[in-house]
Amino acid sequence: MNNARRASLLLIASGLVSLIGLYLIVRGDGEEHASEQSLPSRASEVAVSVPSEVPPQVAAAAAAAASTTPEARPTATVTQPADAVTATSPPTVAAATSVARTPVPERVSIEGTYTRFEDFPGRFFEESVVSIDQIIKVLDAQFQSLRKLHGGIAPYPACLIEYDATHYGSTTPLGIRLGDAAFPSRNGGHPRWEVMAHEQGHNFFGGTSRFYYFVAVPGPLLQESLAVLSAFYTYADLKANQQTYGLTTATMESLAFDFGNGRAYQEGRYREYLRLGRPFNDADVLTSQALDFKMISYAEQYGWANIERLARAFSDGLASRFTFQADGVTGQEQSTYIVAALSAAFGRDFRVDFHELNFPIDPQLFSTVFQVLAAYLS
Ligand SMILES: [Zn+2]
Repeated sequence: MNNARRASLLLIASGLVSLIGLYLIVRGDGEEHASEQSLPSRASEVAVSVPSEVPPQVAAAAAAAASTTPEARPTATVTQPADAVTATSPPTVAAATSVARTPVPERVSIEGTYTRFEDFPGRFFEESVVSIDQIIKVLDAQFQSLRKLHGGIAPYPACLIEYDATHYGSTTPLGIRLGDAAFPSRNGGHPRWEVMAHEQGHNFFGGTSRFYYFVAVPGPLLQESLAVLSAFYTYADLKANQQTYGLTTATMESLAFDFGNGRAYQEGRYREYLRLGRPFNDADVLTSQALDFKMISYAEQYGWANIERLARAFSDGLASRFTFQADGVTGQEQSTYIVAALSAAFGRDFRVDFHELNFPIDPQLFSTVFQVLAAYLS
């Protein structure tokens, strides 16, 4: 990319960040605006107030960035499959100004169709067994996949990927941030595909629907489980459309490596939830992991197209159809909503499964939500 274009992109990007930053600062005094909805934040992060005149995408994305805590998933110890190691091919993107084995610039900016690495450490690409060209193709594909999941809507035109040494992975209003812990050298030479899709998964839910905010925030129960599910949806979509996305066999092997480990990790957490006696707690990530593994299992068994319907159960257009979320949501309401949404999306009654997992279900709310969603999703 030429310098002029890069400069103008940088200007646009920094302008947007400044605008959103300014907006957040200006709106920091939410208490003075009693009529506005104050969106609770996750964990102990900054609370963000979103007035109705702000476009939902910007507002929700800004709130997402302010409220999202960095992921803290422990690093799984895994064995590198021998065939994936040999998959290295030289970078083909000119922007990297480098070929394999010559030093990659300390910081590089690389642009795909829906992806832009901004001022990112060159060693990220140097460490990867997958070529730069293919890394960009995977990220472009993940973006398109998530856009498909959300009925063609995206929170931004392309995902900006920025570096922050101390992060593992987290969201920003315009994309995601990755740190050293998520670099390929810590993952057998494989980019953390799942982490990248997971963070964008947060953005695609939060940045396309305020209703999602009212139902899913605060707490990890729905936010984390839906982000994990989003990542696995992209993997299923990339596998099904490998040719269309232009992904090589070696790249698919790298994805299989990372998502294989990720699935084993989620299953391990689900088993831990069972081992501990099914201690439902909407504020505990373990419960969200029991839920995400259950949803992944359903999708594997009954088809990932059902997950597209599930995502629609969090569409902004549904906000006026319910009242339960008006005074904030309880763990029981979140639990009831997701079980009803899954049941409506899959056309199956999953209540027994979730009763077995000690997920609380309010019979009356279930009935209301199920009826509305069954009609809305059909
Ligand atoms: Zn997350």
